[in-house]
This record gives sequence, structure tokens and C-alpha cells, in this order.
Amino acid sequence: AKTFEVEKIRKDFPILNRKVNGYPLVYFDNAATSQTPQQVIDVIVDYYSNYNANIHRGVHSLSQEATDKYEQARIKLQKHFNAEKPYEIIFTSGTTHGINLVASGFSEFLKEGDEILVSAMEHHSNIVPWQMLCERTGAILKVIPINLKGELIYSEYEKLINENTKLVFVNHVSNALGSVNPIKEIIEKAHANNAAVLIDGAQAAPHIKADVQALDVDFYVASAHKMCGPTGVGILYGKEAWLEKLPPYQGGGEMIATVSFEKTTYAGLPHKFEAGTPNICGGIAFGAAIDYMNQIGFDEIAAYEHELLEYATGKLKEIEGMKIYGEAEEKTAVISFNIEGLHPYDIGTLLDKMGIAVRTGHHCAQPVMDFFKIPGTVRASFSFYNSHDEIDSFIEAVKKAKMMLQ
Ligand code: PMP
Repeated sequence: AKTFEVEKIRKDFPILNRKVNGYPLVYFDNAATSQTPQQVIDVIVDYYSNYNANIHRGVHSLSQEATDKYEQARIKLQKHFNAEKPYEIIFTSGTTHGINLVASGFSEFLKEGDEILVSAMEHHSNIVPWQMLCERTGAILKVIPINLKGELIYSEYEKLINENTKLVFVNHVSNALGSVNPIKEIIEKAHANNAAVLIDGAQAAPHIKADVQALDVDFYVASAHKMCGPTGVGILYGKEAWLEKLPPYQGGGEMIATVSFEKTTYAGLPHKFEAGTPNICGGIAFGAAIDYMNQIGFDEIAAYEHELLEYATGKLKEIEGMKIYGEAEEKTAVISFNIEGLHPYDIGTLLDKMGIAVRTGHHCAQPVMDFFKIPGTVRASFSFYNSHDEIDSFIEAVKKAKMMLQ
């Protein structure tokens, strides 16, 4: 197999050269947001330097250039996720926006007593919008439990789903634990019960290339900023039939066909869901980020990140008092851990003093923390531009922090 040229890749990321608190930056907070390669930064600079203009409305050249580039980015995303039609890709401000758009629209389709299923390992952004939907409609939210390894218990899902189930929501990958969920089986089972499925792909998209047609998923959402792109942009994939049925989420410019005070008619897809001036540069840069990652290759990325995961897990386990949360059979390069007797926040603070960026806390997944009866964890999450050397520095720093705190 081809060796993974991490040193070459690292040169694409200017931020990896900087120091933090006098130490070379070791960036292990990739599950929160990823870093940006020069190739994507260049696209952002090019946009503002050369063709910044509003899209879909101007006859002038700049506007057409910006529109073309924005629509080309949509097609890149369509191809990447293998959507059948470009207009099944809706640009959003991120995963949270995509979920709220669908949850808001479903108010029209649900009635009292309908059931919606969500997993116990969801991010708050995949819990709260559904709770709000239940409050509006009288639908009932039910929770698919997880086991101590941090895996969804499929047999419990089979027991929970029934003819009242209208919607199922699970994340493809858990941000707190890294567990990869068996979404193909989940979707098939839901469809056999006439329920629709939304998959939160925020954590999966940087590591796994999802094929929405092969999955036969109804909705799939993701954020650019976790995939080497900028913040404030993401996508909602929806099957055409669903997007046709769903009402518009926001009213405004761009999303109308005609407006008068008597009656407004809405634009077709995708514009019906893209009210207002979008994050034009962000969308174009998202396309560039997808190109960048595809040029490295998602299979290569996954294999290399898995190597980092195994290496770091093995080393961490040698540390006395180490407890790792989330040991699913299939997981991405996320390690959530605690050291007996120490508070995760204290560990995180000391690691930062040594230039190492990790996340501490509940990771917007309080139900997961409640399940393990802990206030939070330290979470180290790796990307394809991280190295074995960085893991060595991290392990040394964790040992040092432990010594200082005990
Ligand atoms: N779902 C999951 C699983 C996530 O990890 C995140 C980001 N932490 C989100 C949803 C929300 O994404 P965003 O903040 O980009 O909307």
C-alpha cells in the first residue's frame, strides 16, 4: 500500500507552524473544528480579491462568475455525497441549521401520539430541535439506548420502532465517543415501518464518504468547518420528494418566484430553502475543501487516522488510572478519557500550557455523560494531518499533567 505522506500534507496547513504557549501547536480538537489548508485559504482570498458579488440576481459579469462558482460547488457536493440531483443539496449555515430546517418543516406532518426516535448518543443539536418539534405537535420523543462500549443497541431500536414511528434521527458518528452507527440497517428498518430518517453526518463527513443513494437516506446533514472548509456553511441533502413536500423554512429574497401582498409563490429547489444572501464564499470554499480531501482520498484518510487511533489508544492505556469512554467495534479517531481522581478541565488546562489543544467538558452531549455518570471527559480527536510524533508529545504531556495534579 502507498505510504501516507503526512509530512507533505502538513505543509499545506499554515497554522501547524505556530506555537502556543511557547510549544509547537499540537491540534487534537478536530472533532470541534478542523484546520484549513492553503488551497482552501487561497480560494477564499481569490473570491474576495477578484469576484465578490451577489449571486442569482445580477446581469453583470462578477455576479455571473460568483453564481457559476457557487453552483459548481453545489455540484461538487452532489457528486461527493452521490445525490441524484444537484438541487437535492441545500446550502445551509451548518449541521444545526439543516436539522432545524427539517424539524421545523415536519411540524406540518406530525400529530399527537406520533413517535420520533433519537439515539442516546446525540449531539444537543440533534436533540433540542426534536424536543421543540414534539412540543409543537404533541409527538413523543423516544430514545434508543446505548451500551457501555458506547454502541447503539440495535435490538432495542427494533423494539422501539412501530407503526406510530414517523421519524428516526441518529448521528452517523458520535462526537463524544467516536462510535460509528450502523446507519444502513437503521434506515432499512425505518423504511420498512414507513418512517423517514435524518442522519447527522457532522462527525462522519470528515472521515467517511457517505453515498446517500446507496444508503437510501431521506436527509443527511454536514458542516464544512469539520471538513477543512470554513465555518458558517454546510449542507442539507434531502430526497427530492421530501424537499418538495417540506414547507420553506425562512422567508425572504432568493426563495420566491413572485411576491405580491395578496400572494407569494415560492421558488423551486434548491432556492425555496435558501432565503437571503447565502455564504457565497463559504459555499465555494466548501467545494474546494471537498476537492482537497478527495485528492488525498477518503479511504487513505480513514486508514491513516485509524492507525493514529490505535497508536494513541495503546499508549494512553499504559497510563495508570486511565479510563477511555467509547470502545465501539467501529469508531473514528476520537478518544474520550478521564484519569481517576482528576478533573478533565484541569488536564485540558495543563495540556494547553504545553501547546496541546484538546476539548474538555460534555461535548454538547450531556445525555452521554449522564449515561457514564461523569461530568465530562478530555477528548482528543485526530485528523489526517496529525502525526505519530504529535501523539508522543501528547502522551508525555498527559503523563506530566497527571504528575502535577496528583
Ligand atoms: N452534530 C454533531 C454530531 C456534531 O459533532 C456537531 C458539531 N460539534 C453538530 C451536530 C453541530 O454542528 P454545527 O455546530 O456545525 O452546526
